[in-house]
Amino acid sequence: MIQRLMRWARKADVYLWDVAHRFCPEVEKAHLKKKRVYAHTFHDGKNVCWCQDAMTDLNPNQLAGICLHEYGHLLAGNRKSGYEAEKAADLVLMERFGIEMSYRGKNLIQWVNFKKVMRGI
Ligand SMILES: [Zn+2]
Ligand SMILES: [Zn+2]
Repeated sequence: MIQRLMRWARKADVYLWDVAHRFCPEVEKAHLKKKRVYAHTFHDGKNVCWCQDAMTDLNPNQLAGICLHEYGHLLAGNRKSGYEAEKAADLVLMERFGIEMSYRGKNLIQWVNFKKVMRGI
């Protein structure tokens, strides 16, 4: 699943070709405090960091949504956090790839149509 998204990233944008995924204790801590936090980026370089729960709690559309949202942060290049940075991350996905991000469920977790995204490139 994440492997497919990594391959997608390599094809999708030259900037993303070497992005790496890993588990990170800081995401684990953040996830304990705030349930809807499953990943972050810009930790040190072009990584997407995950917590272990992401692999079991999330369905493929949510996992892809979060992954692509993090790619959006990398592409937007804004290391700040906050509402504007969140908007910018999703906007860059729409502008470059036509991917529409939605936020669903009671925790408002990122959601994309994974199959559609994989077909789209
Ligand atoms: Zn991290
Ligand atoms: Zn974000």
